[in-house]
Amino acid sequence: MESRSASWSETGRFCGPHLTGLRNLGAPAIRSILDEARRMRSAGRGAHAGLAPGCQVALLFHENSTRTRMAFEAAAGRLGAVAMVLQAGSSSATKGETLSDTARVLESQGADLLVLRHPDPDSAEFLTHHVKLPVVNAGAGTGEHPTQALLDLLTLEDALGGLGGRRVVIVGDVAHSRVARSNLFGLQAMGARVVFCGPPTLVSPRWAELGVDVSHDLDEALAGADAVMGLRLQYERLEGDAPGAAGTLRSRYGITSERMRAHPALWVLHPGPVMRGAEIAHDVVDGERSLIFRQDENGLYVRMAVLAMLLASAGPRRAAKAAEPAGTPPPRVPVKGAR
Ligand code: ASP
Repeated sequence: MESRSASWSETGRFCGPHLTGLRNLGAPAIRSILDEARRMRSAGRGAHAGLAPGCQVALLFHENSTRTRMAFEAAAGRLGAVAMVLQAGSSSATKGETLSDTARVLESQGADLLVLRHPDPDSAEFLTHHVKLPVVNAGAGTGEHPTQALLDLLTLEDALGGLGGRRVVIVGDVAHSRVARSNLFGLQAMGARVVFCGPPTLVSPRWAELGVDVSHDLDEALAGADAVMGLRLQYERLEGDAPGAAGTLRSRYGITSERMRAHPALWVLHPGPVMRGAEIAHDVVDGERSLIFRQDENGLYVRMAVLAMLLASAGPRRAAKAAEPAGTPPPRVPVKGAR
């Protein structure tokens, strides 16, 4: 399938038409989104309400979510847009409606942009071929989760002052993590070195082919690292021995207080939801090197930036479409009682 993923203008500024992943986005487009998110963060709460007044942002969620869904809803509101939320479990998807038909229903209800979360890694890319709206991937199976990685980059860059030459360890269930993939592409684009760490069952040596340092020893991986990101075990995607995998992660790959004492300058990230006491110790989550709640805050500004940039560049396309000669007007329906 030909990719209709993100592209960017000649100036390097991100302008869509979609955001399905970071794999082919490139540093200038990523930089433009991070800069826009910072600009939005530093302005007042109501400062951007005029950016997308009257726009409708459809959120189609086929998997559960807390922070991603809330952040997209809040972001749409901050831009003056309306969020239309459809949770697939309570939609006609349960009756057998296809993803593309559901998306077309949202389009017919006036959606200007579609945010999709779905268990299929290719789902967002697929939808770009079926609707005329900008599509944003809000987490696609084991594929990508681009807005999560963008908020991680923003948070890390704030903490470190820059990403070039930095070393970031991502530890845990890499095999099933869309967050690990999008972070890999984003961090590499911004010049950072990425280490994937975990047991061989969850971290394949083949990642080395993409320039990743692969390690099965967390203490070794943390030597010289600037940041560590914990990942929970993705029970919903795991096949095989879940208790065994959970035990190994807890006993050998946990982000513990002892490890933090050994590396006092290390920053800690986690995309959430955090399993306190499993992949990360309770007091590390709340500790002074934890960026976890700052990630949540930055999630709002990154989603605002992505929505605003996509809606702005889709605007001229939509305007061109609206200027097309109208077809035959629909027949007037006689209203009972009217003369
Ligand atoms: N919230 C992230 C995701 O949707 C990470 C996770 O669920 O473990 O991928």
